[in-house]
Amino acid sequence: MKRQVLRRWTRAGFFLLFVLAPPLDLFRLDLTQGHFIFFGMDWSFGLAALANGEISATRAALKILTLGFVPAVGFVVFGLWLSWRYGRLYCGWLCPHFSVVEMINSAMRRASGKPSLWEKAPLPEQESDGSHHHKDRRYWAVVIVAVLGFALVWAVVLLTYLLPPKMIYSNLIHAELTRNQALFIGVATLLFSAEFLLARHLFCRFGCAVGLFQSLAWMSNDQALVVDFDRHRGEACKTCTQACDNACPMRLKPRKNKRHMFTCTQCALCVDACEKVQAPGESLLHWQPGGGRSRQAPTHFCGSSADPAQRHQP
Ligand code: SF4
Ligand code: SF4
Repeated sequence: MKRQVLRRWTRAGFFLLFVLAPPLDLFRLDLTQGHFIFFGMDWSFGLAALANGEISATRAALKILTLGFVPAVGFVVFGLWLSWRYGRLYCGWLCPHFSVVEMINSAMRRASGKPSLWEKAPLPEQESDGSHHHKDRRYWAVVIVAVLGFALVWAVVLLTYLLPPKMIYSNLIHAELTRNQALFIGVATLLFSAEFLLARHLFCRFGCAVGLFQSLAWMSNDQALVVDFDRHRGEACKTCTQACDNACPMRLKPRKNKRHMFTCTQCALCVDACEKVQAPGESLLHWQPGGGRSRQAPTHFCGSSADPAQRHQP
């Protein structure tokens, strides 16, 4: 799928940016100097100059307004507009945490047949969309390595957002981390490991403020981009393994209406799964700008207890 290839590239690119932003001085907060660094420039808003009596209070206030407040508000307003119009695009197409969610979900499904430990029953090994997910317990090793590896990377990277990256990487390579640096990395690795193993998509659904505000903006717009379900052709789902539900990394049921899809990340994996099940151009799910007026699924399968979608946990 071209869309998923593109999404892989955007996520990989943003993950790289997330890791490289501090060492390249693109963005970080340097606690040793007490100010932000933004594209190689010291972003102190003139506070040091004010303290040294080099500029007046009015000039410092103007600097805070123009260099801090205005860009920050502009950034937030633009982000909210994007979410209002297109939903949680940041989550599905860029967020480095969601990349971890998808990778570990996929390895865990391979290891246990379930994309998360909280799924009640294993998903089908053979999907109607043609994909195979052969269970292989040896993949637990991949899950553990991925969980610990990503947790360590996240812990180290976060520290480089606070302390000079050169110092952190050099201390790490030469095993000369200070007690506090080692403590930060150790505790953060432990916490991230627990989160990545037990609660990755749950954090995206219930714990992330960035996701929450995107969802709120999106829900407030009836005309926003949404994954729409062609309910008039719902009969076609009867012979399907519910490939769309099984593909969803957030463990949502993509055929339900928008209010049940509050945390949809617009990853379009459900759309692509259905496109593979149905004949070309016959998908029952598609991106629909304008609120998706046909999303209320017919009750004959959507509310049925036989619906495999009912197996899903939050
Ligand atoms: S919408 Fe498509 S993928 Fe989902 S259950 Fe129906 S036929 Fe299957
Ligand atoms: S409902 Fe579809 S687009 Fe939304 S998160 Fe799930 S798979 Fe992605």
